[in-house]
Amino acid sequence: MRVLKFGGTSVGSADRMKSVAKLINDGVPKVVVLSAMSGTTNALVEIAKAYHAKDKEKAGELIGHLNMKYEFLLSELFKSVPAAEKGKALIKNHFDYLRSFDTDSFSFNEERLVLAEGELISTSLFHFYLEENKIDSVLIPALEFMRTDENEEPDLNYIEDHLKKMLKGLKEHSVFITQGYICRDSFGAVSNLKRGGSDYTATLIGAALHSDEIQIWTDIDGMHNNDPRIVDKTKPVAELSFDEAAELAYFGAKVLHPTCVNPARLRNVPVRLLNTMMPEAKGTLISNKSSGAEIKAVAAKDSIVAINIVSSRMLMAYGFLRNVFEVFERYKTPIDMISTSEVAVSVTIDNTKNLDAIVKEISAFAVVSVEHNQSIICIVGDFLADKPGCAVQLFEAMRSVPIRMISYGGSKNNISLVVNTEHKKEALKLINKGLFGL
Ligand code: ASP
Ligand code: MG
Repeated sequence: MRVLKFGGTSVGSADRMKSVAKLINDGVPKVVVLSAMSGTTNALVEIAKAYHAKDKEKAGELIGHLNMKYEFLLSELFKSVPAAEKGKALIKNHFDYLRSFDTDSFSFNEERLVLAEGELISTSLFHFYLEENKIDSVLIPALEFMRTDENEEPDLNYIEDHLKKMLKGLKEHSVFITQGYICRDSFGAVSNLKRGGSDYTATLIGAALHSDEIQIWTDIDGMHNNDPRIVDKTKPVAELSFDEAAELAYFGAKVLHPTCVNPARLRNVPVRLLNTMMPEAKGTLISNKSSGAEIKAVAAKDSIVAINIVSSRMLMAYGFLRNVFEVFERYKTPIDMISTSEVAVSVTIDNTKNLDAIVKEISAFAVVSVEHNQSIICIVGDFLADKPGCAVQLFEAMRSVPIRMISYGGSKNNISLVVNTEHKKEALKLINKGLFGL
């Protein structure tokens, strides 16, 4: 069983939905995971904010605006009167529901119900469209098999059990449509896998079913070697290992949800990134194959804070780093990068929620300084197998950019640098020229 996930822009209009229907209608058994139509989840976030702020009028306005978009879609999507009527009733139900919340009792739980609406609507509409066009499919509700555990991590065993049971009862069908992003938490309440989580749904389903391939369909032709919003010329990367893809997704390549590679790697299911606009393009294949001796891509992550910790007590002492790391652990703040000297250590974090408390605690035994507005630049490839000159090439290319931190050798797939965000664009451009010849 194959898994195909289509993102918000791929189902963002009637025409795009029709193209997706064509793409999936090839006789191959598959689970089709859909995002909400583009813009919908953002709108739902705003609606929830208005409800939280007890501004029912604003919520109503936002809901009305979103409702209009769907009315327009209906007029373009369906040909026959019965299908259009069915679509209309569906939209009315969902929007009546969105309007039904009470500002006084609006809490985190209600917010998650609101956020779930986008995927519930897109999958139902798509299912109706397939029905109208005599393409056999079954809508399988993600809320009946997608679960997270007490740590808010997806519960792969639960997902596997429940999904397999469900599919067993549907043997005469071969196309299954389901919602990305939404799930239930360990208490059974409606929840989600965080923004962009539909990719994660797809890889979890692929892993649960031991699929032969997970396809993530977006609107660009795979992962590119650099950020197309910053540099003029980029090229798609044909192949990446799971590790390389995970590093790139985490460090800012927007194409993929950062943790979605994990389930695929765990069960060794290849992930292919493809472009709905250019279905024939090769895209990017992510698999367990070692990547070959090559520098593959660079990505950058902003809003990084660098914390420098200096102590003469660190000199020839043990236990100092443990004391430092314990503070971060206590405040559940992950450290991204580390570099050390004999008397000092610099770390980076991107979750600054507890920064003040962390600084205060470490200041009790060391001198701490904090630098905001930093960016991590992450260069991914196979460095050990590469020709020895690649670090030289990198630093040569970056000659004019001040570098705040370097991390090399932590993994053979990654060199990370920290620069002030004001130098990020220049750095990415120079790397594009010096390392990729673009
Ligand atoms: N609809 C959700 C979002 O916009 C999930 C997704 O599209 O992957 O974040
Ligand atoms: Mg996405």
